[in-house]
Amino acid sequence: MSDAPALFLDGNSTRVRCLIFNAALGPLDYRVPAGMTVEPGSVVIAPLGPRQIIGVVWDADRLPATEVPEGRLRPLLKVLPVPPLPAPLRRLIEWTADYYLAPLAAVARMALSSNAALQGGSTVTEYRLTGKEPGRLTPQRLIALDLLQDQQATIRELSEIAGVSDAVLRGMVNAGLLEPVVVDSDRPYPAADPHFAAPDLSEQQAEVAARFVASVRAREFHPFLLDGVTGSGKTETYFEGVAAALEAGRQVLVLLPEIALTETFLKRFEARFGVPPVTWHSSLKSSERRRAWRSVSSGAAQVVVGARSALFLPFADLGLIVVDEAHEISFKQDDGVRYNARDVAVMRAHFEKIPVILASATPALESLQMAEAGRYERVVLPARFGGATMPHIQVVDLRVEQPERGHWIAPPLVRALKDRLEKGEQSLLFLNRRGYAPLTLCRTCGYRFQCPNCSAWLVEHRLSRRLACHHCGHEVPPPDACPECHEPDCLVACGPGVERIADEVAEILPHARVALVTSDTLTSPAKAAEFVEMASNKAIDVIVGTQLVTKGYHFPELTLVGVIDADMGLEGGDLRAAERTYQQVAQVAGRAGRGEKPGEVLIQTRHPEAPVIEALASGDRDAFYEAEAEARRDAGAPPFGRWAAIIVSSEDEAEARDAARGIGGSAPRLDDVLILGPAPAPLSLLRGRYRYRLLINARRSTELQRVIREWLDPLRFPPGVRVAVDIDPYSFV
Ligand code: ADP
Ligand code: ZN
Repeated sequence: MSDAPALFLDGNSTRVRCLIFNAALGPLDYRVPAGMTVEPGSVVIAPLGPRQIIGVVWDADRLPATEVPEGRLRPLLKVLPVPPLPAPLRRLIEWTADYYLAPLAAVARMALSSNAALQGGSTVTEYRLTGKEPGRLTPQRLIALDLLQDQQATIRELSEIAGVSDAVLRGMVNAGLLEPVVVDSDRPYPAADPHFAAPDLSEQQAEVAARFVASVRAREFHPFLLDGVTGSGKTETYFEGVAAALEAGRQVLVLLPEIALTETFLKRFEARFGVPPVTWHSSLKSSERRRAWRSVSSGAAQVVVGARSALFLPFADLGLIVVDEAHEISFKQDDGVRYNARDVAVMRAHFEKIPVILASATPALESLQMAEAGRYERVVLPARFGGATMPHIQVVDLRVEQPERGHWIAPPLVRALKDRLEKGEQSLLFLNRRGYAPLTLCRTCGYRFQCPNCSAWLVEHRLSRRLACHHCGHEVPPPDACPECHEPDCLVACGPGVERIADEVAEILPHARVALVTSDTLTSPAKAAEFVEMASNKAIDVIVGTQLVTKGYHFPELTLVGVIDADMGLEGGDLRAAERTYQQVAQVAGRAGRGEKPGEVLIQTRHPEAPVIEALASGDRDAFYEAEAEARRDAGAPPFGRWAAIIVSSEDEAEARDAARGIGGSAPRLDDVLILGPAPAPLSLLRGRYRYRLLINARRSTELQRVIREWLDPLRFPPGVRVAVDIDPYSFV
């Protein structure tokens, strides 16, 4: 595919325009030296002052002109040995930069997400255990032998896995305990087979799958909202779309929230297609990233399952995009380029001219609205597969059914837990709060442990014996005495975290086997797999977990779900609080009764009359969404109006405040744009930076981005001030 003519400014010039990866500079012009050929999308090395810098040749007619005379242009140094970024991806990068008010180069950089891949193919030397009988072992070698079973990686990666130095590993190579294996860094992945194990679909599933298959074959932009209750077989159904793309020899991208990207999902994919998919997420080793990136860009990678950053991979021939759990807010990136992967996925499908499937049991109001407006095709799976029934939901009013002092599990839930244990069935308790207690204070003087870098309390983690800030990672060991009044043994924990709930379960059911499932305990895919294995084999009676357990898991013996505090999400100033609570509780409730035995859900709340709790109790999703839509319409909130946030921060409080006031003072006065603030952010100190916020609310028809651009572009700030714009914000702290 060569669209070379768009490249040159005039017929025989060898001048090209490049995005260069330097945050401070816009596109620059370069000369193409004799003997070098480039086209739009070519990845190049360009000179910048005394340095060499990576850049991408861009379509000159889509960028503002520069005025450097021909004679002063510097020559490009090198074209990197990777395919040029394809035109649909370049259009997506432009759209993303424009919509989210981000620098073009910053977005383009997200597509070049493996430095190693840009250097071309090569071989790497990896090492693995030989299995040779070791003689006398140092403790470090003993550890390495244990941790490196079934591992093959470079010395550096192995040293990270085993937590021992390179020198220890080199010593093991010399002793014949580790052996080198030379591998091609671009070796192909085994081929997926679309017919490997096709399921017998129910009639409803088959109808939905047929829509996907037809759409993949039609090769046209077509957004679907796959709206199906938990356990209805959404995955099986969109897998048919994946199979159709495989048959057509085209590539597929499946986006999952990072927490749903589990071993379970990969196993399921393997069971359907015979091989695991190519994965893309933040904890890939550098060699794995390189291999994945290169095979995506060559077209060899068939199916990529990844977290949101996979969205900007340079697919050679994409045929289908799936966004699973599409309502998840973790698709919204809140640093760097602040984009929403769900929305950008739809735009990518638009530019690639392919279908996109947004799958969810609890779709975002925005997505339902798009379906209502006829922009997305809504396909529905209204019932669980195989006759499993939806769980029975019951509300526990905590004002009436009070837990014992210092406890959080109310009598009805205690009884239900005991009942399941007697029957040998499993229970799940959900509380979306890591650690033991969210606040620790001194009984004598009232001193509260606060993070020095953030306006947040330190959370006690009893298992790892520390007080930790969940915003910046600051942590201290719990002191023996109060730092303020020096009274010994006076610290009290306030409120529950999952660790404390697990303790309470141990107290109520001393013989139950309890598993704590949070990002602190499931720290690796191996640990997650171990948990799934134990839960499936009925080696666990009660699971206590955070949102990590709300999705993806399918345990047939799990018949009771208890929601410890359904009100937690409703506090605070989040404008989507009710919707989020609905989604979270409905998702965790969806874990109950997935097998033959019916499930029961107990929701503990102090506000049983809140519309969201009533909707959950009666299972009347439509009524909830209607009421929520009504409230949003009245407030001019998305999807009926538009929001943007401006976040101003500095290490110097006065500087941040002055900058925010400066922005507020120069705000445009427009009839259909409402500007709130500046005001100190709820998290007024974060990682040592003082923060102020403005919230902009506009009609849908307003060109919000243009308004903000014209407002902020002329303003100048001291170097210590950061001004971030968040279009369609999800976070308000
Ligand atoms: P969802 O993604 O909607 O929650 P899943 O795709 O996970 O639902 O399906 C729920 C369970 O039912 C899974 O264990 C899945 O393998 C099984 N299942 C769904 N459809 C079928 C089918 N047609 N044949 C066999 N098993 C199915
Ligand atoms: Zn902090």
